[in-house]
Amino acid sequence: MKIVFATGNQGKVREIKEIMKDMDVEVYTMKEAGIDVDVTEDGATFIANAKIKAKEIAALVAQTEAFSDAVVMADDSGLVIDALNGEPGVYSARYMGHDTSYEEKNWNLIHRLDGVKDEKRTARFVCAVAAVYPDGTLLTVQEAMEGRIAYEPSGANGFGYDPIFYLPEFGCTSADISPEEKNEISHRGKALRAISVKMQEKM
Ligand code: IMP
Repeated sequence: MKIVFATGNQGKVREIKEIMKDMDVEVYTMKEAGIDVDVTEDGATFIANAKIKAKEIAALVAQTEAFSDAVVMADDSGLVIDALNGEPGVYSARYMGHDTSYEEKNWNLIHRLDGVKDEKRTARFVCAVAAVYPDGTLLTVQEAMEGRIAYEPSGANGFGYDPIFYLPEFGCTSADISPEEKNEISHRGKALRAISVKMQEKM
């Protein structure tokens, strides 16, 4: 079975290849399938956005000769902060504009939580994944990694909001742990493993 992963992010592709290495699948990037489009993610939820992306790319993949029989997968993820009513949520990538550095975004979120006590600083990284089959069948999953917003950024691993995402059970942020450790517990790792289980059940 061929899978086209609707992302330009090589890290995500490497992760899904590793998770699916024992399944009888070949994973391709959108680029490898000859598709290069920017999908507008205007859904209200992570699941809605993952579906929008997967369906839109699936319609294009269906028109190709080499990948018309492929399953198209897409993900959408973000940071949900309870004390900010779920912000930045589905707007995580766009929060404060695409041109603002994550250093600024991270400090901004820390400042918005000024005076908020430990137990109210709860947050989670959420990841939804959708898979669209050539016959239109749609599978979706959503998983999360729980944590708290730190008082200052720390760590050089990871990306985005990792430096301010404190993991109580590790005593450090998700930018302080190794990529391997993060894949084991992360929203994306969990969601990719969950969708691969669902896909295996269908095979
Ligand atoms: P997506 O690629 O459209 O799913 O955008 C997700 C956005 O959420 C990223 O640009 C980051 O800002 C944020 N995000 C999602 N997952 C993580 C993570 O594991 N660490 C840090 N930031 C993340």
